[in-house]
Amino acid sequence: MLLKKILCTLGICSSMFLAACNDSDSGKTNSNSTAQKSLQPIIIQGALPVESEQMASKLSNSTVETFGGWTFWKGTYQGYPVIISKTRMGMSNSAAATAIAIERYKPIAIINQGTSGGHDPDLNVYDIVLGRYTTNIGAFRTPKKAVGEGSNSLEWTEAFDVLPTDESDPEPIAIRKFEADKDLLLAAQRAKTNYSKGRVVEGTIGSADVWNNELDRIAFFHKNYGTSVEEMEAASVAQIASQYKVPFLGVRILSNNITNGGAYDPGTGEACQHYVLDVVVEYMKAKQAALK
Ligand code: SAH
Repeated sequence: MLLKKILCTLGICSSMFLAACNDSDSGKTNSNSTAQKSLQPIIIQGALPVESEQMASKLSNSTVETFGGWTFWKGTYQGYPVIISKTRMGMSNSAAATAIAIERYKPIAIINQGTSGGHDPDLNVYDIVLGRYTTNIGAFRTPKKAVGEGSNSLEWTEAFDVLPTDESDPEPIAIRKFEADKDLLLAAQRAKTNYSKGRVVEGTIGSADVWNNELDRIAFFHKNYGTSVEEMEAASVAQIASQYKVPFLGVRILSNNITNGGAYDPGTGEACQHYVLDVVVEYMKAKQAALK
């Protein structure tokens, strides 16, 4: 690694060493090089093996890196640098995997994708939601109740903003929505034509370390937060990406929808991965063209 760094610094960056000059160890492209400029990798995340391994198997020249409990497959897809990240489930795991990936790989963008449960009765299993907005549906300030008065989550109407602009406010009450990056969303729209297993719509993804099975609770989120689907990672990733100013998009396929009787289908995990690889090609193609 030291040798690579010295060679790159001296500008004797042959094509053999170009990749090394562009990787996260150097953090920036060698401007002295006459070779064509290259893109930083895009990160695609999936929580579970069924949401990540299909994509990993499609990479060329792939290598695997593991930090803590998090696995990253590095390689190329149709010539573009791609890293598949298995975040494991939930908000903490996905936040940690995101911070590690950003620090380590300096990605051009992050897509968090995978399965989800429908909050909108108009959406069916195999439909895909592009998260124009992503929001945390697990942070609240509850009403005060005395001992013996019980608890009713339908009365939890105050969302707690865990990323307030004013950090001196100890109890920031607001629904924070993270907006999708425009170029990622445009790429996802362009990739729609290849997807035939369901519809692809824009909507709001709600995330929490909760699997909601109470229809009144789900209706509450659909009405008050505008959620199309729920899952357990995207808002956490959006929160970390926003602080690093890395472009972000959540893409979620419905694997189940109890609002209309849509039974869980494990095949959805693979279908979403296929679609997202098409999104990646559309996005990287546009970014590559902009470099020229
Ligand atoms: N294999 C499980 C489903 C996955 S468990 C099963 O057979 O039931 C939870 C994971 O799936 C989380 O990573 C979450 O992002 C996603 N998920 C899918 N549907 C969900 C739902 N209805 N509520 C919450 N998370 C859901």
